[in-house]
Amino acid sequence: MTEVTAFAALESGGRIEPWTYEQRAARPSDVRIEVQYCGICHTDLHMIGPWGQSFPMVPGHEVVGRVIEIGDQVGAFAVGDVVAVGTIVDACRECESCLAGQESYCLRGATPAYGAPDRIDGSQTRGGYADSVICDERFVYAIPAGLDPAGAAPLLCAGITTYSPLRHWNVGPHSTVGIVGIGGLGHLGVKFARALGAHVVAFTTSAGKAADALALGAHEVVLSRDENQMAAQANRFDFLLDTVSVGYPMTPFVQALRLNGTLCSVGLPAQFDVAPMALAVGRRSIAASGSGGTVETREMLAFCAEQEITADVELVSRGEINTALRRLEGNDVKYRFVIDMAR
Ligand SMILES: [Zn+2]
Ligand SMILES: [Zn+2]
Repeated sequence: MTEVTAFAALESGGRIEPWTYEQRAARPSDVRIEVQYCGICHTDLHMIGPWGQSFPMVPGHEVVGRVIEIGDQVGAFAVGDVVAVGTIVDACRECESCLAGQESYCLRGATPAYGAPDRIDGSQTRGGYADSVICDERFVYAIPAGLDPAGAAPLLCAGITTYSPLRHWNVGPHSTVGIVGIGGLGHLGVKFARALGAHVVAFTTSAGKAADALALGAHEVVLSRDENQMAAQANRFDFLLDTVSVGYPMTPFVQALRLNGTLCSVGLPAQFDVAPMALAVGRRSIAASGSGGTVETREMLAFCAEQEITADVELVSRGEINTALRRLEGNDVKYRFVIDMAR
């Protein structure tokens, strides 16, 4: 057992406080990782709050760090390697999804990186707001040389969540793509869609974000509260990546899709507010997508290295986690907070 200094919510809705716990001894295929950077995801806010099932909870599923110990059957990693861990740390490994490397869609339910029972001993999984994490090597990713480790951390959740649907819906040089909402997810959606060769349009509610969206790589910006601008988008888009997490009237966006176009939500509001007739006219689809598996995550990291894509991050110290969470609640970040565990 290894004593770990972590930062945990001791009870639902509580502040993040220093807390120590005993981390398991390394199993044969485990990798123990000294955390260098951990992104702060919107999910962390939900888990510390209403979604959390078990406390104390150590959040964090955008982890980059250095390998400090390996089990005796680990083949892919060595001590000293710079690696990452994302949103899931295990899955059944036998179902159709797992066999296809799409473990985030495990039919028996993948094991989240924190706040869930470990599949082998039932202990709680604990995330990257900590000195170290431990994870089976199947769910550990090499960080390609040349990728800034702090900016790479958010790729493990925000990155794969936006990359996966763009790839699934075959976004490429032939595509006109809209990214709805330019925040932690959306800013990466713009970068990926642009790098995939698409014509990229950013949809935002705030005129103040227009210049930023263009700087991120969007070819055009549409102010979605401007009815005239929205009407001018009709029948234009092959694909819309929707990162908005609260319900809003989606029909004008659906009407911006071409024949057979798809709007895919990754923000996952509680309900979709859309007129079915707007879907029928143009045989349009509304879909949703969640994260991605090990095969696609490796592909994404290689793509990011080749295209020099990382998240735009604001580094915070261990002592600033609560302030960062409060600011994240108010969408006051460009575009992702990352904890620098050395500060
Ligand atoms: Zn996340
Ligand atoms: Zn499975």
